[in-house]
Amino acid sequence: MASSLSRRRFVQLGGLVAAAPAAAPVVRSRGGTRPIVIASANGHRFRHGGPRTCVEEAFLHLSRGGDVLDALLAGVRILELDPEETGVGYGGLPNADGVVQLDAAVMHGRLRRAGAVACLEGVRTPSAVARAVMDHTDHQLLVGRDAQAFARRMGFPIEEDLNTPTSRRLWLEWRRRIDPEHWLDPARRGEAGERAARQMLAEGLLDPHSFFGTVFCGGLSARGEVAAATSTSGLAWKIPGRVGDSPVVGAGLYVDGAVGCAGSTGRGEANLYHLSSFLIVECLRQGMHPKDAGLVALRRIREGVTEKRLLNARGNPRFNVTFYILNTRGQVAGVSLYAGPHAAFAVCTEQGAQTLPCEGLLGPDEGPEVPA
Ligand code: ASP
Repeated sequence: MASSLSRRRFVQLGGLVAAAPAAAPVVRSRGGTRPIVIASANGHRFRHGGPRTCVEEAFLHLSRGGDVLDALLAGVRILELDPEETGVGYGGLPNADGVVQLDAAVMHGRLRRAGAVACLEGVRTPSAVARAVMDHTDHQLLVGRDAQAFARRMGFPIEEDLNTPTSRRLWLEWRRRIDPEHWLDPARRGEAGERAARQMLAEGLLDPHSFFGTVFCGGLSARGEVAAATSTSGLAWKIPGRVGDSPVVGAGLYVDGAVGCAGSTGRGEANLYHLSSFLIVECLRQGMHPKDAGLVALRRIREGVTEKRLLNARGNPRFNVTFYILNTRGQVAGVSLYAGPHAAFAVCTEQGAQTLPCEGLLGPDEGPEVPA
């Protein structure tokens, strides 16, 4: 496992084994499957003022014998509602027009069903709407205004605006920096946008993990059932209508009840091109360890990047992608294109919750430090 996560950063990330999330006795199947939850690092960072993080909450539900997807969504909801998490749900960083547009997906292994929403506005908990798509329709993905209309009909409160004072202030700062005279030519405008965002990262105005920023959460129940969920406000300042990998089955997440699950955070466009979560689960099916399966997908992405603007001086990708992988034997891995302080993942078992460094395909010195 990469050791580049400093101890200080590890503690900041909420690392070090936390107390077991609950005193409730863990329900175990006759076969002895131990429940486990895996998530992106933010899954063990935010609590929305409550006692538990996402992975702890999900594990608590699992340990009480709850359905695996219900358990994960109880955890993901904490991040969606927490305004401090500016990459997911309420208070997520908005698109280029200042509108918060959210994507989410859910997938249940035993039921062999999935549901997703993209470009959803006005609902703080898009993962719950994705769940409603799975439960109440014959479809898999609803988008935009019609996804919102569906949510309204399903009884979700619709809000005019999901910005918080923080997300609005940061968007305004970004606009001010990129658009001082309203319009630039397209090439210069693109550059200016990226430059402004990187400057804001360097100045500490933006939390690096939420420039991109998604929660992925996967779990294995005592009954041996697997499920996964994603939720995100997507790439900060994206072109309105842009949809990343998170709500796309096979890209942002994939579950096969007999094999395991995988999910991602990072540059969605790179992942969409390769449908990496599907690829990883196929590798698990062939008997690969989660770590090796994840590295296969990372190599595919690295080899697939040929556009100059996406490569650094060493010819490596200028972005990061991270995969979170869990098989039905309860083995897990977190793997990133680049190891480093932002490449971490969260796990919760009977022993409690931990934040662990991801295995990197490339060392931090092989690319610019980029958020994932
Ligand atoms: N993958 C997400 C997207 O491209 C963003 C992220 O995970 O950081 O929308």
